[in-house]
Amino acid sequence: MPNIASIIKGHNKRIAATHTSKEKEACNCRKKDTCPLNGNCQASNIIYKAEVKTIDNCKTYIGLTEPPFKLRYGNHKMSLNHEKHQNATELSKHIWQLKQNNQPFSINWSIASRAKAYSNESKRCNLCLTEKLIIINTDKRTLLNKRPELISKCRHENKFYINNSSPTTKHRQENHTQLRSEHRRKAKNPTTDRTQKRIHQQPNTEESLTNPQTERTRKRILRQNNTPTTA
Ligand SMILES: [Zn+2]
Ligand SMILES: [Zn+2]
Repeated sequence: MPNIASIIKGHNKRIAATHTSKEKEACNCRKKDTCPLNGNCQASNIIYKAEVKTIDNCKTYIGLTEPPFKLRYGNHKMSLNHEKHQNATELSKHIWQLKQNNQPFSINWSIASRAKAYSNESKRCNLCLTEKLIIINTDKRTLLNKRPELISKCRHENKFYINNSSPTTKHRQENHTQLRSEHRRKAKNPTTDRTQKRIHQQPNTEESLTNPQTERTRKRILRQNNTPTTA
């Protein structure tokens, strides 16, 4: 995968130059010697590695977090300590198997890499890309992560879809599910003049779903043209 590798390398260089993730990084543990990430538990935008050592082997779990690691660690801890959450991750599944077999183990957490999550500027999630690259490059015999994680979609883009109404994100919002939630949201608010105007200009856009009247108009147009609502 030379292309992805060079993309990530280039992007990581730019990130390092702006000191974004390193500045805030620290540890807020009361007892510093028990910090789960060796004094870096507040690190954000990282790909982390959990190495589970038993007497005869060592398994690796790769994860990522955009918010400070300690938040993610709290979730891991819950799944490792409470049996009802044992299937939360591949890591917790493995740990509970060890527990059930009475096999002693230790877990060592470390930072595998740093990369910025999706932003409106970069339009790319290097955090997810880097994690996938690390998963690909980790020895499959020791890796706990499963293949589907390689094709899982980035979650970090989502917040930009909801809160941001730039033309690009607006365009991406135009799938059926989001159109419907948009419809529900807008139905609660009074329709603006601008929206009204656009209803007549573009009967098939999300703005046409603002009130029942235009909904009927839209349906009539749809019946006449027999065209799909989404692009
Ligand atoms: Zn700490
Ligand atoms: Zn992502």
